[in-house]
Amino acid sequence: MEGYVVEMAATGREALALLDQKCFDIALIDYQLPDVDGLTLLSTMRSRKLPTMTCMITAYANIDTAIAATRQGIDFFLPKPFSPDDLLGVMETLSRHKRLKEEAEKLRRENEASLLALATEKSQTSSLVSSLRDAVLVINREREVVLANHAMAELLGHVQKDLLRKSVDAVLAEASLAGLADLLPASGDDHRKISELTVGDKIFFASAVTFRGEDGVALGRILTLADVTEMRRMAMEKPRFIRTMVHEFRSPLGAIRSLIEVALDKSLGGEIGPYLPFLERADRRIDKMVELIGDLLSLSRIDLERTATASVENTDLQTCVASIADLYREKIVAQQIAFETALAPGLAVRIADEDLRTILGNLLGNAIKYSRDAGAVKVNASRKDSDITIEVVDAGIGIKPENLARLFEEFFREKRPETRDIEGNGLGLAIVKRLVERACGRVEVASVLGQGSTFRVVLPASPV
Ligand code: ADP
Repeated sequence: MEGYVVEMAATGREALALLDQKCFDIALIDYQLPDVDGLTLLSTMRSRKLPTMTCMITAYANIDTAIAATRQGIDFFLPKPFSPDDLLGVMETLSRHKRLKEEAEKLRRENEASLLALATEKSQTSSLVSSLRDAVLVINREREVVLANHAMAELLGHVQKDLLRKSVDAVLAEASLAGLADLLPASGDDHRKISELTVGDKIFFASAVTFRGEDGVALGRILTLADVTEMRRMAMEKPRFIRTMVHEFRSPLGAIRSLIEVALDKSLGGEIGPYLPFLERADRRIDKMVELIGDLLSLSRIDLERTATASVENTDLQTCVASIADLYREKIVAQQIAFETALAPGLAVRIADEDLRTILGNLLGNAIKYSRDAGAVKVNASRKDSDITIEVVDAGIGIKPENLARLFEEFFREKRPETRDIEGNGLGLAIVKRLVERACGRVEVASVLGQGSTFRVVLPASPV
């Protein structure tokens, strides 16, 4: 009559069978059942984690039964005798409890899901910010640091977590970054501010923006610093490179023109014979210019391919060294150079064959070129873990210590009496460096002036 659907079980076993078949909202359990007692039934129900609310009915209402039933997780205790109204009151209470319990469970699940989403979002944001190469600093309305990534902490000379909640004004004053303080004025200037700053030997592009809540109220400011030192350096490099390149073309062209002019002016008479040495010299200079164009093209090709996935090859070092040495055999003999190799057997380098030939060709060519007559040149190679180290050692004129750092720049040549008569365009080592770095290796040089130089290339070994 009250709208409940009621099913009855005469024994504990029957009750369990019913509970197996259906999901009940409320179970009213007699304390004494023909087979098992009510407490055992309750404990079985609890172990099955049923959502059913339970009420124990007993005539033997005493405190011990109540405690035992409560321990088994009973929701209500109804002593006999009771009136139908008492029973209905219990039913209503239990129904209400069940609804509340279900709602609480639903809320708990929703809460858990949104907490999880929040935590994921938070950790995504923080890993995103910390992985940025740019330095990022976020301050709140009270001008306290609420976020600083690793790059920013490093720049400000702090441990990342020590910056949190610190006053940004104190932090910037400490780091003596006055330029940055100008970007974060204390007054309500909320325009986007950008400027270029020099900090130590670095140049930064700095930007500060105000961020706002949904209601448009300013919540704080975000400051980002991008390191543009390298970009600036490259921008300055370009005109210098072009100027040098123009010079490298203009001076041989001028020389060729004067050589040709001798013939055009017929200053040595009408016969071709006397002019031949001049034309041969012009021809040699043209050869050098063609070589220069070839080197410039190599440089730009390497730069262009830098981004493309250069196909990786496995190149046998011994074969490569032998064929390069063959190319220089004549010069080695002419200069009476003692040439030696000491290569560990079976070395294979993870680099394109052509690239390794260019690298070794340039280094060996230089070693011979900058050796004095009757010098000595040696190529060593060995493997350590996954690295192969190749050394080209000469006992030549050596390099001034102050020039070692500039050796791999385009067009750099040492100007010394010893190098005056040695031909070259200063591009060989620049090409070597780019090829080595493209193959994920490195190149180093050590030299003692007047005693000789060692160029060391470390390249990845091919997987066995
Ligand atoms: P270059 O065509 O002038 O040889 P490189 O780029 O190969 O150009 O070398 C740049 C400069 O480095 C050379 O001009 C020379 O001054 C110096 N250099 C290179 N290799 C050696 C070496 N083995 N011994 C002495 N100086 C060297």
